[in-house]
Amino acid sequence: FSLEEQQRAIQQTNDDAAISKYCAVSKGYYNDPFISLFVKTKEKRQPLINRGTYARVQAVQLLVERFLHLTKRYGKRQVINLGAGFDTLFFRLRDKEVIWKGDVFVELDFPEVTQMKLRVFRQHAALYSLLTKDTDMKSFQETQDGLSCDIYKLIGVDLQQIEKLSYLLEQTCQLSTHAPTLVISECVLTYIEPQSADQIIQYFSKTFSFISFILFELTFPTDPFGRQMVKNIEQRGFSLESLLSYPSLRAQKERFIQFGYPKVDIKSMYTIYEDVLAVEEKRRIERLELLDELEEWKLLLQHYFLLYCLKLDMLQESEADEL
Ligand code: SAM
Repeated sequence: FSLEEQQRAIQQTNDDAAISKYCAVSKGYYNDPFISLFVKTKEKRQPLINRGTYARVQAVQLLVERFLHLTKRYGKRQVINLGAGFDTLFFRLRDKEVIWKGDVFVELDFPEVTQMKLRVFRQHAALYSLLTKDTDMKSFQETQDGLSCDIYKLIGVDLQQIEKLSYLLEQTCQLSTHAPTLVISECVLTYIEPQSADQIIQYFSKTFSFISFILFELTFPTDPFGRQMVKNIEQRGFSLESLLSYPSLRAQKERFIQFGYPKVDIKSMYTIYEDVLAVEEKRRIERLELLDELEEWKLLLQHYFLLYCLKLDMLQESEADEL
């Protein structure tokens, strides 16, 4: 596979993610009034995938809302969504009023992807009205592959270009290096060469004094079900280098400690589904579509993990405990 083909394949994983999310929403797994605006091909997904999508979206949103809740007393919070693709998180949070005027939400992806996202914004007043709500219109600017207003920024960049990334965040977006900042990386770093991914992780801990990082990824699977997943990934032309570099939850945890985050919590999606997600909601969604392959469901969950970590400078330990 050529580099161009690989990049195109990586960008297309976003269409896949958006279709899966649309499908789970249309089956009633969770509510997202915005995702349908981003999806052209309304394909069906297996019940197993729908349930997995539900667990992933709920778990990430839970962590993001928890961070925003615990940092409520700060005048400005910053959320940076790496490889955001067509994620609708900003709109869901803005709609629920858990992010406010004063906060900043940044979404980054390849320019090819941000251009498409921008095109969808332009077509839908529902999105535009949330972008412009309480916004000083003097701050509103659109470029060919991005958009900027005081509360939201959409930026086209290859995340592997660390210097450009830091310039865009610190100079162009004028992010504060002291405000509570949350980075989200959901199914993104897997597609980035491990050394560059490490640099990205390290850049945030070095630059921001109050930083949390959420990572949702695949673990390196060694059982037959997992090997089939790996084969599917390879057939699509992706390198498995990053999966091999940090093949276990322990290795991932150590990676974040090594790159500057002293507090790291990591759980498999199986543990999260069993112990963290709300029981009544699980009972409700488990009735939506019958799942024959319970063993497969368990395996699928075991192959994904969610990591949450934190680095605080100059703040009391008690604050770190809470976060
Ligand atoms: N995070 C979104 C979600 O969970 O729905 C999208 C996930 S999709 C599987 C991966 C996204 O990461 C794609 O939109 C892709 O373009 C983006 N991505 C991967 N490598 C990237 C890079 N080097 N620079 C910018 N974006 C990248």
